[in-house]
Amino acid sequence: MTARLTVSDVTCRFGGLRALDGLSLTVEPGTILGVIGPNGAGKSTFVNVVTGQIAPASGRVAVDGRDLTGAHPSRLARAGVARTFQVVKPFRDLTVRQNVACGAMFATGASVARGLEEADGVLGRVGLAAVAEARPATLPIGHLKRLELGRALAMRPRILLLDEVMAGLRPDDVAATVALIRRLRDEDGTTVLVIEHNMAAIVALSDEVLVLREGAVLTRGAPGDVLDDDRVVEAYLGQRFARRRRENPDG
Ligand code: ADP
Ligand code: MG
Repeated sequence: MTARLTVSDVTCRFGGLRALDGLSLTVEPGTILGVIGPNGAGKSTFVNVVTGQIAPASGRVAVDGRDLTGAHPSRLARAGVARTFQVVKPFRDLTVRQNVACGAMFATGASVARGLEEADGVLGRVGLAAVAEARPATLPIGHLKRLELGRALAMRPRILLLDEVMAGLRPDDVAATVALIRRLRDEDGTTVLVIEHNMAAIVALSDEVLVLREGAVLTRGAPGDVLDDDRVVEAYLGQRFARRRRENPDG
């Protein structure tokens, strides 16, 4: 299940601030696009616009060419768009299993029984079967990040947007999550946009990497080329560091 995501000339303002400033990008069906950029670059705002949490001031969001700009989150979910939240948002009063079932019920209109059945399959995939009956409040952040992923997977997404889903995970959990995301693409053909500060994970996953800065695309290309770009180093670490690196590439 796959689809093409096209975002054209999207601007999003918060008061005087342009969180997204004429942003255009396409994610081709069945590819993984890594998105990096400093804090405040507009990465989470981008996900909010694509999933209908925020309506952009201008511009267009389309799934397989169908215009869904400003559509309600439930309509985008039915169109096959799913996301995780950077700040995890489980339903506190529901079990892990029930939380995941909600994803299926929200996106596919599944009954409770069907949703729970779907959840059982997904919990195994994300390694949460052992805590299926636990409440979110009792779980460590690594489990809660995977719960975000599980709820999104229960939506059977064609396009999956992952907002720092590996932040705070232990290295073995990062490796397991990288393997899972790869499998989603390889076996299901899911189109994936992965926002992450973990560069090893980004390089391991991404067909292409896009750098967002101040709400616009700074550059986009093969992971190795992008991460070696002085402008990218500068965007992350500041001008002085980039200049020193240019003048003294071995130091
Ligand atoms: P990133 O995810 O790349 O760190 P965000 O998309 O969260 O960046 O934020 C981009 C900019 O928009 C930041 O300056 C942030 O403070 C601002 N911003 C994000 N959401 C809101 C909001 N709901 N209200 C006001 N400002 C916001
Ligand atoms: Mg963010």
